[in-house]
Amino acid sequence: MSTCTCCHQGQLQPLTLDNGLFVYACNACQGYALDIATYLDWRREQPPLQASPHAPVGIQPPHADHRHALHCPACQRLMLKYRVHAGDSPSIDTCLRCDCIWLDGGEWDYLQAIGLHTSLTAISTAAWQARRAQLTVNLRRAEQDREQLGDEVYAQAQQVLAWLQEQPERKHILKMLHRLN
Ligand SMILES: [Zn+2]
Ligand SMILES: [Zn+2]
Repeated sequence: MSTCTCCHQGQLQPLTLDNGLFVYACNACQGYALDIATYLDWRREQPPLQASPHAPVGIQPPHADHRHALHCPACQRLMLKYRVHAGDSPSIDTCLRCDCIWLDGGEWDYLQAIGLHTSLTAISTAAWQARRAQLTVNLRRAEQDREQLGDEVYAQAQQVLAWLQEQPERKHILKMLHRLN
């Protein structure tokens, strides 16, 4: 691990968190790269926690998720975003090739505060396996899209898609887009 692929400024350095989890931390943006196998070993030692889908009052997410597509710090390929939990939990980035996870600066603390830090993956469950299969398909599609569009247009298209997904009237918007061509 070396230069941070999120902020492109800091260096990723090995760090053991207070709770014993080993990560690579960026010394500039404070993001963490986590190896999933290491994470699962650590999680096995943790007491079971009741995950709560909603943040307790007064605890705010660290900041809006970075909008640009993130590259895996280990293999440099595009990472995929998924939500830790249904609802408005933060989305985290994962690389299925390296089985690694990226957390933006402050995200781990936030997840810990809302009790989701032990459910980052639910990775050994059937649900994760199904999701993983879907992610693999998505990853392949994302790479094809990016090749077709180029990095810049692809990143812009992703922003439009993210916006679209938040619109309750997205079906109508899609119809309007369809009329464009
Ligand atoms: Zn960084
Ligand atoms: Zn990777």
